[in-house]
Amino acid sequence: MPGPFVDAAAGLLLGAACPGCRTPGAGLCAACAALLSGVEPFAVADPTCGVPVWAAAPYADVWRRCVVAYKERTGWWLGALLGELLALGVLAAARGTGVPIAGLVLVPMPSQARSVRERGLDTTLTLARVAARTLAGVGVRASVEPRLRHARRVADQASLGEQGRRDNLVGALAARPVGEGRAGVRVVVDDLTTTGSSLAEACRALAAAGTPASACAVVAATPRRSPASRA
Ligand SMILES: [Zn+2]
Repeated sequence: MPGPFVDAAAGLLLGAACPGCRTPGAGLCAACAALLSGVEPFAVADPTCGVPVWAAAPYADVWRRCVVAYKERTGWWLGALLGELLALGVLAAARGTGVPIAGLVLVPMPSQARSVRERGLDTTLTLARVAARTLAGVGVRASVEPRLRHARRVADQASLGEQGRRDNLVGALAARPVGEGRAGVRVVVDDLTTTGSSLAEACRALAAAGTPASACAVVAATPRRSPASRA
């Protein structure tokens, strides 16, 4: 967190504002920082990928605004905070598998090469690395295994419905084979999930490579309603 003088100067000179509430100043304001870290990880209902999916926070309010800002070029610095939230989601996901957490292997969703070039940063890989460091800091051995890659181009997901998104992504990812495969509970990680179709494709690709994931974890998820509550 920047000090109050740097904060005020940046607010005046650069027009900087808190990404959570737009209050002028550098960085996240104290109120938003407190809100951001006050999370309770939750299991996403009806995951479509066959393994449990855990989110640190809902994709709403301050969390949504911070994830959106992080994905824009100017919000790169939010990676440190959001990576810590991801670590919370990973821990909850690993506990949910019931497997003893001897070690964790975080497999980040691959970013599009174009967005990495534009942002000058691989946002998901960065979050995975921060999460692994955070976990190591609390005594949980975690490594990052960036093995997923885009196997083909896909249509823009924005215009598609839930089934259309799933169909559009089948075969979109491939997992690089590993010689030995690191020991530990493998968790696919991403910044956010809405329909779950990207995580489902990642799990499919990992299973096809003979190294299935045990769970998925994200910083934020759209709270999904069960079919019964929707009706
Ligand atoms: Zn704020």
